[in-house]
Amino acid sequence: MDASPSNEAEGAALASGAGLGPALSSMPVLQVHRRYVVVEDAQGLTIIDQHALHERVMFERLHDRLGSGALESQRLLTPMALTADRAALAALEEHAELLARLGFEVAPAGPESVLVHGVPTLLHSRSVDALDFLSELLERAGAGELPPERQAALVEVLSMMACKAAVKSGDALTASELAALLAQRESIESSSACPHGRPTSLRITLEELDRWFGRR
Ligand SMILES: [Zn+2]
Repeated sequence: MDASPSNEAEGAALASGAGLGPALSSMPVLQVHRRYVVVEDAQGLTIIDQHALHERVMFERLHDRLGSGALESQRLLTPMALTADRAALAALEEHAELLARLGFEVAPAGPESVLVHGVPTLLHSRSVDALDFLSELLERAGAGELPPERQAALVEVLSMMACKAAVKSGDALTASELAALLAQRESIESSSACPHGRPTSLRITLEELDRWFGRR
């Protein structure tokens, strides 16, 4: 695959620790069982589901990005063939515009296959197998599992993409990755208009802890 430096930027923000605010870096942070992140604040503590939060961050970013045009596409030096049944080919046609907006360059290549010329940079930079993702997407679309309404279909596909690209439960995160995730949390909490999916965090105040331990 062609990998120009600018193309790598999209998914690399988590790894780089970019956007870390000075206030956050001084707060104690603990990753628990490679699944939750516990962070102290002035009045208590918050337990964060690392996958749920990162997925949400990814979703919001992708959604914002799409507001100003198609996602960045990474062109493959050699086009890759993908087998596709009749339903998947029909889905490809039906959702051609959506796929293009996401950064997939893909065209039918016969009665049972498609040729992939480009994939979303984000998937590549987050080490997600973009061809597997596209197969799954076409399969789901072919089975009628995508909402017919365009905006709803977009939200569904972005959710799939965000889930695949996000850190997983079980991923060990370095100190700078933890810091970046927490910095990203601040940005989505202030900008997110509509929450999707399950909760990303649980906050417990000092007062609640004190009550629990019979201190008041
Ligand atoms: Zn998920």
